[in-house]
Amino acid sequence: MTAEILNGKELSDQLKIEMKQEVEALKQEDIHPHLTVILVGDNPASKSYVRGKEKACEITGIASDLIELPESVSEQELLLVIERQNNAKEVHGILVQLPLPDHIDEQKVIHAISPLKDVDGFHPINIGKLVNGEETFLPCTPFGILTMLESKNIEIEGKRAVIIGRSNIVGKPMGLLLLERNATVTYCHSRTKNLREIASEADILVVAMGREHAVDGSYVKEGAVVIDVGINRMDNGKLTGDVEFESAKEKASYITPVPRGVGPMTITMLLKNTIKAAKGLSEK
Ligand code: NDP
Repeated sequence: MTAEILNGKELSDQLKIEMKQEVEALKQEDIHPHLTVILVGDNPASKSYVRGKEKACEITGIASDLIELPESVSEQELLLVIERQNNAKEVHGILVQLPLPDHIDEQKVIHAISPLKDVDGFHPINIGKLVNGEETFLPCTPFGILTMLESKNIEIEGKRAVIIGRSNIVGKPMGLLLLERNATVTYCHSRTKNLREIASEADILVVAMGREHAVDGSYVKEGAVVIDVGINRMDNGKLTGDVEFESAKEKASYITPVPRGVGPMTITMLLKNTIKAAKGLSEK
């Protein structure tokens, strides 16, 4: 079997066209979706992600501002900036680009963002709602993956899903979303024994390890859906995933490439959450 490629770039372009129309319609009702991005320091990867987010906002007609703060900014100053954005009526979504410098407590910052403007879906209140199966802002990467699965009508109910990686932003919420849709979910991590054996039982295999090509075709069950979340920069400067694409695609039924897979979907879901926030706050 050779897998069908799940092209996240194509799907996200299509979704952006739909969102542009939605934003235009909202503007007719005097609702102007608006995202504030806060960037601390000069991390080149963070800067590039932020540029991608600004560009995507522009394409869909969402207003965005960027607040750039120096690496040396104190935690207290950052919390004040967030508080101002929480109180700014015209701002619907707030995103603090992670990682933050070591002297700033990331959790404290995440807690400071109003849950109503938490378009990344990282606030404990929103994570709690996700655990409860309540309506909330879904964390963008798992939300994007779910949207890709749904776009191909890939069945989730009753399927065996294996998630490699248990971070708060990808692995954990991914498992919760699949569980909510009645998959049987197994989490794997760095202390997991027999990783290959467990992975090769998966109907849906999500790999979010941050380890270049750690998973090859021998981890993949015939016909499995393989989602590669990893973004790794190779020695030649190009980006690649956690999955060895060539061998995995010979076994999988569907597979995401890197780049043009999960990455573009993550940004697109941020826009979706910002529109959702704009609708929600404007109702109040
Ligand atoms: P983290 O580093 O926070 O988590 C990595 C997870 O992988 C951990 O749970 C870790 O286990 C597990 N892990 C690491 N090595 C192994 C191993 N040898 N065997 C089994 N499990 C292992 O990363 P993130 O979740 O933030 O990101 C994962 C990858 O996805 C990165 O490459 C990142 O760049 C990418 N990413 C891509 C996004 C996109 O939009 N496409 C968005 C976000 C991230 P343990 O918990 O035990 O340490």
